[in-house]
Amino acid sequence: MTTPNDFSRCIVQYDPHALPVSSAQAIVREWASPVTAVERVPLHDALDRVLAEDIVSPISVPAHDNSAMDGYAFDGAVLAGASLTGQPGTIGLRVAGKALAGHAFERTIKTGECVRVMTGALIPSGCDTVVPQEVVTREGETIHFPANALTCGANRRLAGEDLAQGQPALRAGRVVRASDLGLLASLGIGEVSVRRRLRVAFFSTGDELRSLGEPLDPGCVYDSNRHTLFAMLRRMNIVALDLGVVRDEPAALEAALRNAAESADVVLTSGGVSVGEADFTKQLVRTFGDVAFWSLAMRPGRPLAFGRVWSGGRPGAGQPALFFGLPGNPVAVMVTFYQIVREALIVMSGATVPPQPVITATSTQAIRKRAGRTEFQRGVATRDEYGQWRVTPTGSQGSGVLSSMSEANCFLMLAHEQSDIDAGDAVDIMLFDGLV
Ligand code: AMP
Ligand code: MG
Repeated sequence: MTTPNDFSRCIVQYDPHALPVSSAQAIVREWASPVTAVERVPLHDALDRVLAEDIVSPISVPAHDNSAMDGYAFDGAVLAGASLTGQPGTIGLRVAGKALAGHAFERTIKTGECVRVMTGALIPSGCDTVVPQEVVTREGETIHFPANALTCGANRRLAGEDLAQGQPALRAGRVVRASDLGLLASLGIGEVSVRRRLRVAFFSTGDELRSLGEPLDPGCVYDSNRHTLFAMLRRMNIVALDLGVVRDEPAALEAALRNAAESADVVLTSGGVSVGEADFTKQLVRTFGDVAFWSLAMRPGRPLAFGRVWSGGRPGAGQPALFFGLPGNPVAVMVTFYQIVREALIVMSGATVPPQPVITATSTQAIRKRAGRTEFQRGVATRDEYGQWRVTPTGSQGSGVLSSMSEANCFLMLAHEQSDIDAGDAVDIMLFDGLV
């Protein structure tokens, strides 16, 4: 197998007609190496970035024991005393003062006393238990409550129960989420180290493609792939460099590929990787880059070229960039992005690859499926009244029918060996939400 550091010419070592999806994913994972540059950013700019350092708590959160309720703090030993005497009865305590959040009760309580406390107030010295005010009857400066209403230590938040000083609070490789910004702030941290953002250059190929604003000549289509790729990259917080549409001409394609390799870590193209007369991308990359594979046992997404391109126009010359030559069909672009490209981009961003939840659902329909390739059909999944997932394939599964992606909320993942499916059979599904 080729390795990420093997910059010699790559001879394709896999049966180009039958590379299973799992093997392709393994090769891509092996070739993808994380960006190493790191920058310090203020807290808000860390959102959706990849942490480059473990965050160790400089303090405990909370810093002190405090009340989880509005109520009265007291010494919980009196509860044990009440049950020892066998009296189910009532505990009576005298209110010695009060503690608000941010305003402590300064002295130590005496036997038979309690302190009025609000949520977040420090637990006064000598107290370890809080009785909620709803449970209490108050007459003047005395409270009463049933001894069996709570146990010793109740309604007390312990110092460090959220985060303990000196413990790792967040690990390097984490993509920073909303809760993490709050968590970092709770530690008093206003700046963190993150990896530099991954840069991905992309362009579409095809003489028939028109860009927005151009008239649609006969036989032409608007270029949609650049816009779906832009959106998916944006969702992953990757720097997306749109290099436009490139005509089906070897010289133009070579210039575009070299320019892309010069400016980005990864180059994505769409179209031109099949076996048609104007499909030059794959041949070009084979001439001046490394191609690891160009055909997958996958549907949609069979023609997919993967390798490395060099800005200098030959292997080892200039800047290298990982190269994905995606198919032209718009659905195939999205499916291959989700299934093959996405993980490589996560790894290259320096992030830990999160587990990808797969759910088992009952297919409402029979599905035709040929063994020997992995299929990713588009489906609509819902939960029935018993909480079970059911999935219905969207109508047309043609790889040019982009509306099927918009209609769907999941892929039906039909495994390599799987053959036809009956209505009522269990199938694996992957929900789109949260993937990019
Ligand atoms: P190709 O892989 O270049 O043979 O393209 C396969 C099909 O996808 C053809 O019908 C193309 O017109 C279509 N196609 C290729 N690129 C795009 C694009 N960027 N936007 C929309 N359709 C495309
Ligand atoms: Mg084409």
